[in-house]
Amino acid sequence: MTLLFEPQPAVRAKTSTGDEFPVRRVFCVGRNYAEHAREMGKDPDRDPPFYFTKWAETIVPSGSTIAYPPATSNYHYEAELVVAIDRPGRNIPAAEALDHVLGYATGLDMTRRDLQLKAREQGRPWDSGKNFEQASPLGLIHPVSEVGHLSTGAIKLTVNGETKQSADIADLIWPVTDIITFLSRMYHLEAGDLIYTGTPAGVGPVVTGDTIVVSIAGLSPTTVTVGPAVDA
Ligand code: MN
Repeated sequence: MTLLFEPQPAVRAKTSTGDEFPVRRVFCVGRNYAEHAREMGKDPDRDPPFYFTKWAETIVPSGSTIAYPPATSNYHYEAELVVAIDRPGRNIPAAEALDHVLGYATGLDMTRRDLQLKAREQGRPWDSGKNFEQASPLGLIHPVSEVGHLSTGAIKLTVNGETKQSADIADLIWPVTDIITFLSRMYHLEAGDLIYTGTPAGVGPVVTGDTIVVSIAGLSPTTVTVGPAVDA
């Protein structure tokens, strides 16, 4: 038998301690801040947490130039706290959930908002709006031994220096413990999984040439510049 072509190597995220984190899967939480749920036209009090996924290959490191993606004219930023998992588990009890966390990072859940909203209206999957090349910029992963567990702290996003999102991760509707507990009832969590925990209010569009910076208190920022369109 012949291996028909070389498989892609694992995507490697960098940690603040100079190590590499092999990325397995990317889970994302939808509508996890009340003000953002409202700006998306939804009732934050009634909707239970839900998840969607992205390919590991969507991860790009902070400092990257990301191409303006095809098939959209409404390309949005979403600043998010990202949780890095390094211990497998299913049906993880709340009291043990944080034991599965290696550390935390800043990140961006980049979104083709026009495609996402059209899919939502039509009751179709969100993949085309959420899961595309370079859609998940990620900052350095800071281990818990360095920064502890994050349940409070400012989260902020700027575009070309202007503040667009400003909130506190204490405002997460479902905090990290709940996110892990609920997710582990549906999937066997694995070392290498990343969880993007949702974005606060203030999402909006970017265009070629814009520089986006996500900061969360205690973590390294994620900085990306939007490059020319893929098909330009
Ligand atoms: Mn998001």
